[in-house]
Amino acid sequence: MEKSDIVNVSGRRVEKGRYVAPLLKGLAYTLKNFFSRPVTLQYPQEKTERSKRWRGLHRLNVDENGKLKCVACGLCARICPSQAITIIPYEDEGGTRYPKKFVIDELRCIYCGFCQEACPKGAISLTQVYDYIDYHRSDFIFDIEKLKNPKQFEFKGK
Ligand code: SF4
Ligand code: SF4
Repeated sequence: MEKSDIVNVSGRRVEKGRYVAPLLKGLAYTLKNFFSRPVTLQYPQEKTERSKRWRGLHRLNVDENGKLKCVACGLCARICPSQAITIIPYEDEGGTRYPKKFVIDELRCIYCGFCQEACPKGAISLTQVYDYIDYHRSDFIFDIEKLKNPKQFEFKGK
């Protein structure tokens, strides 16, 4: 090969003409995407579809009377690998058990979903809410009231 057949492309020695096809291919790809619909979303007003299996903030579920389904058995707290759940059980005169205190530290949680799987009452679920933001660590300690409606903490912009 003649020395004059070699050119320097971005510091690489390339045979003359060999770079034209890849260059055109790259340009064609750029042009194609230049005229296609942008994938940028106007977050937080617009959000991408999340997988059905997405695991976000927890929700404590209630029955048709609005009462917590949780019977404070403690299985979820026991299985939690992050020790993120704290429960203080309470039993009324009729022998019905409720959580007097049910707290999840959402910053300790690794969103494994074990608590949801372990619950025999379907009392705890992981929702699709993933973008809760706040200023203090203590704001991420969710008590019963917060856990009843995590959807309200979904970020919608300021
Ligand atoms: S999702 Fe996993 S880490 Fe988070 S509270 Fe449940 S069991 Fe614990
Ligand atoms: S949420 Fe379920 S597993 Fe956890 S304490 Fe309540 S009933 Fe038991």
